[in-house]
Amino acid sequence: MYKLTRRRFGGVLGASAMGVAAGSLAAPAVLAAAKSRLVVIGGGPAGATTARYVAKGSKDVSVTLIEPKHHFTTCFFSNLYLGGFRTLESITHGYSTLAAEYGINVVHDVAVDVDRAGKMVKLARGGDVAYDRLVVTPGIAMRYDSIEGYSAEASTVMPHAWQAGTQTAALKQQLEAMEDGGTFVICPPPNPFRCPPGPYERICMVAHYLKSNKPKSKIIVLDAKDKFSKQALFQEAWVQHYEGMIEWLPKEVTGGVKAVKAESMEIVTDGETIKASVANVIPAQKAGVIAERAGLTAESGWCPIDPSSMRSKKDESTFVIGDASIAAAMPKSGFSANSQAKVAANAILADLTGSKKFPAKYRNTCWSLVATNDGVKVGADYTGGDEKIDVTSKFISKTGESADLRAQTAEEANGWYAGITKDIFG
Ligand SMILES: Cc1cc2nc3c(=O)[nH]c(=O)nc-3n(C[C@H](O)[C@H](O)[C@H](O)COP(=O)(O)OP(=O)(O)OC[C@H]3O[C@@H](n4cnc5c(N)ncnc54)[C@H](O)[C@@H]3O)c2cc1C
Repeated sequence: MYKLTRRRFGGVLGASAMGVAAGSLAAPAVLAAAKSRLVVIGGGPAGATTARYVAKGSKDVSVTLIEPKHHFTTCFFSNLYLGGFRTLESITHGYSTLAAEYGINVVHDVAVDVDRAGKMVKLARGGDVAYDRLVVTPGIAMRYDSIEGYSAEASTVMPHAWQAGTQTAALKQQLEAMEDGGTFVICPPPNPFRCPPGPYERICMVAHYLKSNKPKSKIIVLDAKDKFSKQALFQEAWVQHYEGMIEWLPKEVTGGVKAVKAESMEIVTDGETIKASVANVIPAQKAGVIAERAGLTAESGWCPIDPSSMRSKKDESTFVIGDASIAAAMPKSGFSANSQAKVAANAILADLTGSKKFPAKYRNTCWSLVATNDGVKVGADYTGGDEKIDVTSKFISKTGESADLRAQTAEEANGWYAGITKDIFG
């Protein structure tokens, strides 16, 4: 593994030169010096897809992808891991194809600051990376202060598991260690948040695991909202597959979660204190920290974008894609992030190489597995309107669908997972 230091690189580096230092398969620095430079912060679905599509689209742009992790575990399908339908390995992906086959300079580091005037990204381990166009895709940060007593430290005891990897594995271990007859408490966050159907798919997957392994256990849902995505479909599944196991309490009943006490595993609402055997506390969210640091966020904590390109409304040279952006009608999903990345890649190539810019078209589908061979979905097509991203058509599964159709929807999701992860990581 390479080590980047200020001494070795004299502080300021072009992205192309850095790729050579990083030992990837970039063109020699002397040739690459004339190339335009794209720097991407964050190697999730949004960032990795953009990097790959720009690298694929032109040999005249050098692409640097900054991501601290060597392996990326997808949040999508992480609920299926909790349910016992997937292993953690099967939802974990590496970056070697992006480097080897697409010549992307993958730099495993954290971007700690952006000098927008000087067009430089500062790295945690020292050194700056120069860019002509910047893509900021850091995903989400937790608003720990939205729940009294919750913190990064408390999340090791009461995991949110809303950023996949260590957190998801911790939640799984706790479920496995829980006694039969225990209480699993989940606290879905307020809007807007990553993956609107995610908490409710998680309830199904945890119920599936408990029904098969610890059938005397209960699930209590302390929701920060009064309604949620695919509600009729999830509630149908809770009755059909997990009768008597799940109690959903909307905000209008409890007033929402006010505080947690990790040391005693207690969750406090307006009227009650509930003791959990396992507590899955998912706080309110905002754009990843570097977005705010770079001055790209609005008061809401999320990043405004131009709907025709995903270009930041705060900076002409910068694009914000995926969960960190305000993409109006589009949910914060991996599918959305991947779709937005292709629109942004087209706009970036147009900026840097003069290639044709096409009208922005976006798409999303969110599948959820509710039980074995029982899948549901919601989705839409979108266009980049004048003010925001607008829906052009939409669809949703229906309650009471046949078992055959539900099995087909579940299978469709497996196909989608294989396809999208290939499209993201190569
Ligand atoms: C339980 C659950 C289930 C889900 N299921 C689905 C589903 O079925 N379908 C679907 O489409 N979506 C699903 N999602 C949503 C999906 O996972 C997210 O919308 C998607 O990951 C967003 O992609 P992103 O690239 O914007 O952010 P991320 O995936 O969070 O990637 C951001 C990356 O940026 C890196 N980063 C952050 N800050 C820095 C920095 N300063 N420097 C360098 N790197 C940085 C991070 O390490 C991370 O790798 C689910 C989410 C959850 C939690």
